[in-house]
Amino acid sequence: MYRFTELNPRTSHYEFMGPIGATLLLLFMPLLTLHFAFECDGLNSCSFFQFNYWSLRSLFDYKAALAYLGWVAYLVCLFFLLPGDWVDGTTLRNGKKLQYKINALYTFYTTTGICILVLLVFGHHPFLFIPRHLVGLVGASICFSFIGGAFLYIRTFLYNDSLMALPGNTGNVVYDYFIGRELNPRIFGDLDLKCFSELRPGLIGWALINFSFACQQYENLGGRVTNSMILVNFFELWYVFDATYNESSVLSTMDIVSDGFGWMLVCADYSWVPMNYTLHTRYLAVYPIDLGLPAMLGIVALHLSSYYLFRAANTQKHQFRNHPNSPQVQGLRFLRTKSGSRLLISGYWGVARHFNYLADWLMSVAWSLPCGFNGLCPYFYPIYFAMLLLHRENRDHDKCLAKYGPDWEEYCKLVKWRILPGIY
Ligand code: NDP
Repeated sequence: MYRFTELNPRTSHYEFMGPIGATLLLLFMPLLTLHFAFECDGLNSCSFFQFNYWSLRSLFDYKAALAYLGWVAYLVCLFFLLPGDWVDGTTLRNGKKLQYKINALYTFYTTTGICILVLLVFGHHPFLFIPRHLVGLVGASICFSFIGGAFLYIRTFLYNDSLMALPGNTGNVVYDYFIGRELNPRIFGDLDLKCFSELRPGLIGWALINFSFACQQYENLGGRVTNSMILVNFFELWYVFDATYNESSVLSTMDIVSDGFGWMLVCADYSWVPMNYTLHTRYLAVYPIDLGLPAMLGIVALHLSSYYLFRAANTQKHQFRNHPNSPQVQGLRFLRTKSGSRLLISGYWGVARHFNYLADWLMSVAWSLPCGFNGLCPYFYPIYFAMLLLHRENRDHDKCLAKYGPDWEEYCKLVKWRILPGIY
């Protein structure tokens, strides 16, 4: 039986509205993903309010389940087979640092290379498997999330020397299962499950599914893809490339530093992201759109400028914290906290406390605009993402207030806007 220690105190407050909120999300997230799978399958229809017949036969599709498991196994194999740098994580509560193998970028390159090779040798047909089995793949991803969550929850009782995540040790089964108990679950020695899952199955899977819907559109249009489909594929592929290129920066995110690995992150990484972030290309496969030149240029300009701000803001903090002598961060003003950490109060981090969130959100709008204004499905992502970022900003605020106390209050007076300067 697991022993409590001072390092693993009982969690005293709930997030996500506690066990009730957790139960609702455990039901709502898979049901919404299923709803999108049936309503916007990228083959026949893509409408939020169509209410198609839900066929259990297409949901429990053994070929799709095998393909899904094969995809996860392939990623695990690449993690071990491909080279990677070993990078230190942040210092843990027990004073130790874990090392992480960083090779998501090589996984991205390998997968892209394999896709190009398949395309050259066999044409686009092999990729049509994904659109044709989308519902089964969604079903498999949801089963995987629940089984994965159960595995992670149960294993926390088997090892009594593991660090628990501070938010996930309430003792309430549903809530802890949902939010995740263990901070850094590892299997096969070096495979850190949380870090592995952050960028590989969801993000690289997202790019792969997008590409398969471009192939579906090519099939539907008799050998042509629209410029809107190319734009969305390219924008989102770039985002995935950028994330894998900067993989080591995930080591300082809330997900890795403080959140446990439970159903919530498993579902996000293995089901929610790859299955729902692909709604743009699923929509365009059913409703192809040829953009005029002014619209295309406007969308590209929005994407490039928001990407620039997103990357510049995140890099500025990264440089400031990790390479304080770098010329790019000289002259920036900061607040020195009693904990020893320094908080930027100028540059992007002086404009708003989370200017990076605003830029990220604007990018999500640029991904939806190529789909026009006739459907709701392509706008699901920016709507949901706005809610996620608002909620995340609140969670981060609470975390920083607990960590820095009066220094954080002082910082909030100096940088008064949370995300959108002048408004919020
Ligand atoms: P952030 O990069 O916004 O970092 C927040 C942390 O930075 C704080 O907890 C604090 O940590 C430190 N910090 C806060 N203010 C300052 C300051 N003024 N100066 C220096 N350090 C500061 O964290 P996120 O992980 O939330 O976001 C990273 C990126 O990932 C964002 O661009 C976000 O948009 C994106 N993202 C995308 C998602 C998606 O689904 N597409 C989901 C989630 C995030 P400390 O304790 O070290 O001081």
